[in-house]
Amino acid sequence: MATRKLLLLPGDGIGPEAMAEVEKLVAVMNDVTGSGFVTETALVGGAAYDAEGAPVSDATMDLALAADAVLFGAVGGPKWDGVAYEKRPEAGLLRLRKDMQLFANLRPAICYPALADASSLKREIIEGLDLLIVRELTGGVYFGEPKEIIDLGNGQKRAIDTQVYDTYEIERIARAAFELARTRRGKVTSMEKRNVMKSGLYWNEVVTRIHRDEYADLTLEHMLADSGGMQLVRAPKQFDVIVTDNLFGDMLSDIAAMLTGSLGMLPSASLGAADEVTGRRKALYEPVHGSAPDIAGKGIANPLAMIASFAMALRYSFAMIAEADALDASIAEVLESGGRTADIMAEGCRRIGTSEMGDAVAERFRARFSS
Ligand code: NAD
Repeated sequence: MATRKLLLLPGDGIGPEAMAEVEKLVAVMNDVTGSGFVTETALVGGAAYDAEGAPVSDATMDLALAADAVLFGAVGGPKWDGVAYEKRPEAGLLRLRKDMQLFANLRPAICYPALADASSLKREIIEGLDLLIVRELTGGVYFGEPKEIIDLGNGQKRAIDTQVYDTYEIERIARAAFELARTRRGKVTSMEKRNVMKSGLYWNEVVTRIHRDEYADLTLEHMLADSGGMQLVRAPKQFDVIVTDNLFGDMLSDIAAMLTGSLGMLPSASLGAADEVTGRRKALYEPVHGSAPDIAGKGIANPLAMIASFAMALRYSFAMIAEADALDASIAEVLESGGRTADIMAEGCRRIGTSEMGDAVAERFRARFSS
């Protein structure tokens, strides 16, 4: 049996509660599919700062680099508000992303039919939505130099950020998007601002070349990022995979996420380069939500974003497509059956807690593989 190494980093607040539900699923999966997952658990964020003096220790970093996939809960909370900047809980996540060289951030926006009425858009616009935003995560204006505020000496200051992309950065994110599109409906929409930005012009040129030379069997379209924002709320079902830079991706993925309702439902993945020998990518999977200190410890957090993040790990790190599909379908079935945590509660539904939600998904998953 193949061994698959998962590093679990539950973190703070509701992170451990949500991660406990993934652990249940891992056990069920090993039991019914013989998937051979082996898990290790380590501290991250405020919990790691308290116990180990750093938001992610070197030893944990080594575990992350050696794992086939890392599952990350959430970090932070008021307890650590006064901690030095470089030791704050979020610094643990930033170090993981940096040291694992995770340059591609994947944020799916899926509308479960049972939750279509929770969207701010009309049911017919949103029902059946299934798109994936691929955001460049390690370059662009968030990291470009110079990045500073300078005193001009005449009573004025000047604030500078630098939008910068090298060829290889655009090539690798474009390839990641095309590879993902190949496993989906085969369409990539690249978004930039080539009408006003040199970096947009060059982004467009490189994505076009990669498509022509390597992925001509897939469909590529280009859209200005501002127009893309409008289209996302006007007719989101036209999209399959959207590839865009760090800044536009930050905004567009939040817009897309909110099309489908609660923060407690949103998974994400961050991928690194494929290993030249094994083809395997370093990868970290995490819910979009934070540590939710306001509800931590109450057993009411929605674990579905964390569970759907695990489904993404099955799909993108382990190519376990049947299991990933079954897990996503199990989530949809539980929602369909009316089981709801407080954040997605609706009239006529049954309110359940974190653990009950995890149990319900695990049961449905087991039933799919036992029948
Ligand atoms: P948050 O996502 O933690 O919470 C926002 C609101 O959504 C809260 O009312 C919360 O109760 C609710 N919510 C979030 N996840 C939920 C879930 N799974 N089920 C039910 N309700 C849920 O964002 P925040 O309040 O701005 O931040 C709280 C802490 O989390 C801060 O310390 C922040 O820095 C940190 N944070 C961490 C991450 C991360 O670890 N990746 C991301 C965002 C925020």
